[in-house]
Amino acid sequence: MKIALIAHDRKKDDLVQFATAYQDILAQHDLYATGTTGSRIQEATGLTITRFRSGPLGGDQQIGSMIANNDMDMVFFFRDPLTAQPHEPDVTALVRLCDVYHIPLATNMGTAEILLKGLQKGLVDWRLNAERRQ
Ligand code: PGA
Repeated sequence: MKIALIAHDRKKDDLVQFATAYQDILAQHDLYATGTTGSRIQEATGLTITRFRSGPLGGDQQIGSMIANNDMDMVFFFRDPLTAQPHEPDVTALVRLCDVYHIPLATNMGTAEILLKGLQKGLVDWRLNAERRQ
């Protein structure tokens, strides 16, 4: 599975903690992240991560592009609901594309744990059969 990891600045510690706790599971998948989030997780866990640009510089859109190409299977996007983001339109677009393409998306730790446990149990295996359209 291809999994995207993104966190706004005030949520990065949460995502690093999450990735550390579940690194054995995450290591079995292809991981992608926005620039700074990816660096933080790599430093903390040693996981191999394909890093895109930083979110405000287009990283969210790069991940959105993979979703639009049916080339991303799950997204962990720990958003900060209390701080205005300069790239808010990109954030909205990424969430929207997940909805357009039925991509499992967790925007907070509570949902993230359930998604990852579902992944372990094979509840997302339908994505393996998802036709790669482009
Ligand atoms: P970052 O981007 O990982 O480069 O900080 C995340 C975001 O703000 O969308």
